[in-house]
Amino acid sequence: MSREKKLTPEFVAALADILTPEQLLTETADCVAYGYDNSRIQVTPDAVAFPSNHDEVLAVVQLCNRHHVPLTARGRGTGTTGASVPLRGGLVLSTEQMQDVIELNPDDRYITVQPGLTNQAMQNIVAAHGYFWPPDPSSAAYCSIGGNLAYNSAGPRAVKYGTPRENVLGLRAVTGNGDSIRTGVFTTKGVVGFDLTRLLIGSEGTLAIITEATLKLSPLAEDKRILQAIYSDIESATRAVADIMKQPIIPCALEFIDGRAIDLIRQSSDISFPDAAGAMLMIELDGAQQHLDADVEKIAEVANNSGLLSLTAAKTTEEATALWNARKALSPALRNVAPNKINEDIVVPVSSIPALIHGLEQLAEKYTIPIINFGHAGNGNIHVNLLYDPNNPVQAENIDTCLEQVFDLTLKLKGSLSGEHGVGISKQPFIDRELDPTSLQLMQKIKNDFDPNNILNPDKLFPG
Ligand SMILES: Cc1cc2nc3c(=O)[nH]c(=O)nc-3n(C[C@H](O)[C@H](O)[C@H](O)COP(=O)(O)OP(=O)(O)OC[C@H]3O[C@@H](n4cnc5c(N)ncnc54)[C@H](O)[C@@H]3O)c2cc1C
Repeated sequence: MSREKKLTPEFVAALADILTPEQLLTETADCVAYGYDNSRIQVTPDAVAFPSNHDEVLAVVQLCNRHHVPLTARGRGTGTTGASVPLRGGLVLSTEQMQDVIELNPDDRYITVQPGLTNQAMQNIVAAHGYFWPPDPSSAAYCSIGGNLAYNSAGPRAVKYGTPRENVLGLRAVTGNGDSIRTGVFTTKGVVGFDLTRLLIGSEGTLAIITEATLKLSPLAEDKRILQAIYSDIESATRAVADIMKQPIIPCALEFIDGRAIDLIRQSSDISFPDAAGAMLMIELDGAQQHLDADVEKIAEVANNSGLLSLTAAKTTEEATALWNARKALSPALRNVAPNKINEDIVVPVSSIPALIHGLEQLAEKYTIPIINFGHAGNGNIHVNLLYDPNNPVQAENIDTCLEQVFDLTLKLKGSLSGEHGVGISKQPFIDRELDPTSLQLMQKIKNDFDPNNILNPDKLFPG
């Protein structure tokens, strides 16, 4: 999408007073790269600002507010739902130059960082002190802490350790109204006032720009073990997931892939599965070395039901890598067979996974769109991949209805439209199916209080 530029010379001059020339882009050709994310939606902003600290962010937000200029925060643009795309143009605020560690406090188990640090860079810093931060999106090497918080992004470890909402102590931020706020605490308990930290987490840059985040650290486990369990059918695999989650040894990852995904891996790699394989679980356990062998035995016992075809526990790092390779082969295989696939990350209660997968199979058949499913089974967070070909006229006609029915099925099963990828632009038309009108009105009022001129990420999150 291209638009007419609309920043006034007065606004640009005032911006140049706040930032150095190295902190500002105004040429269209330079701004293009800041107009898209992994959703592949593109709107080029009129300018890009690279503030380096809280005070510069404050000055930029206050200026945008005075001039009513739309302002979209951007981490690294790896989001999949278009939340960082500046729909109305205006100014993109990139946090690329905000990568400082403000305070590392190993004794109190927290680190305070600027939001532009990548997840992996932060993990490397805290690992040297024996810690990790649990949220682990597979894009960790590229995505920013600010993006992780704004989307409440997580990964496999959420099943045991939770998402950013469970792993952030407090924030420093600038509201859309141009006010500085500090939320939360530096302690692991605290109950003074409303929980603004968790309100800002997941708000997709619509309420405030996060300028500092105090992250709660967890001690690194001494060791890990991996198990691969293959089942004849989805019911047996899901029965095992529910049984595993009911007992006290919680895995640090409990991943699932369905039978169609197994077929795809078979076709596109030399990884072999038993002929009758209908579903696979990858189970990762972490903890103290002296307990892990016993934990593996207990989980193997619980995972063993009448549908189990094989259970393999890795004894060496090489064996563990080989087991994970089956799961990792899936994403490239999917990209090869369907470059335009639509990937939704819906979530349902664990016991509803079979009903979800069967419902999806029926939709795939009805609309002649192949659907492949895998994901974080311990959380019921399933990545539903609609392998849609835009050049196939039947699929092109059916895709919108099929997607709507995927969401309706999810909600009927007491699920939610997104487990970790957020609403952004992609899911905007659907959120009033999940949220009731009164809740949406309350959210709109909160948005108005934080951002009365609607400058922060306008036209996002709420239904049009
Ligand atoms: C290959 C690949 C693998 C992925 N794997 C996972 C996965 O396993 N799990 C998962 O959850 N996601 C995954 N993602 C999606 C994506 O990486 C995450 O959503 C990530 O958290 C986005 O971070 P980002 O820095 O790129 O944010 P961006 O995409 O730049 O922005 C995301 C949102 O955050 C807002 N924002 C950014 N910084 C701030 C700030 N400082 N203050 C306020 N708002 C801000 C933006 O306005 C936008 O709304 C994956 C993406 C790719 C491409």
